[in-house]
Amino acid sequence: MEEPVTRNLTGKCFCGAVHYEVADEFAYAANCHCSNCRRTTGSAFKPFAGIERGKFRLTAGDDRLLIFGDKSGHDAHCGRCGSLLYSLVRDGAYVHVAMGTLVDDPSIRPTAHIFVGSKAKWFTIADDLPQYDGHVPG
Ligand SMILES: [Zn+2]
Ligand SMILES: [Zn+2]
Repeated sequence: MEEPVTRNLTGKCFCGAVHYEVADEFAYAANCHCSNCRRTTGSAFKPFAGIERGKFRLTAGDDRLLIFGDKSGHDAHCGRCGSLLYSLVRDGAYVHVAMGTLVDDPSIRPTAHIFVGSKAKWFTIADDLPQYDGHVPG
C-alpha cells in the first residue's frame, strides 16, 4: 500500500529571513477579531489556520525568530522584519499559521469570524460567514 501523498505548503515573512513548510492538512481556519490578533498583525483581524504542531516546520531562519510568550504558548515573529508567522497554542499541541504569510494557496478557507465581541468598530464584516462573540462554540 502506498502512503497518501501529502501536499506541502510554503510560507515566509516579509523580508524572507524566515521560511516554513506546512502540510496542507489544516484542521480549521477562522478570522480572529480579538485585540491581540489585531495588534500583532496591525490589521482589522487575523485569518489563521490551525494544524498539529508536528505538521509544521521551519526551513530557514529559525535562529532569527522573535518569540513572544513561553514554551507552551507564544507568537513567533521574524526578528528582522517583525512579521507574525505563527502562534503556538493549546499547550504547544497546535500551531496557528497566520495565513497572510503563506506563499501557496491552502485547501482550507476561513469558515467563521471569531471574537467578534472585540471587533474594531471601524471595520464592517461584509461576508456571510457565521460570527461568534468568542471561540466557535462546541
Ligand atoms: Zn522577516
Ligand atoms: Zn485572536
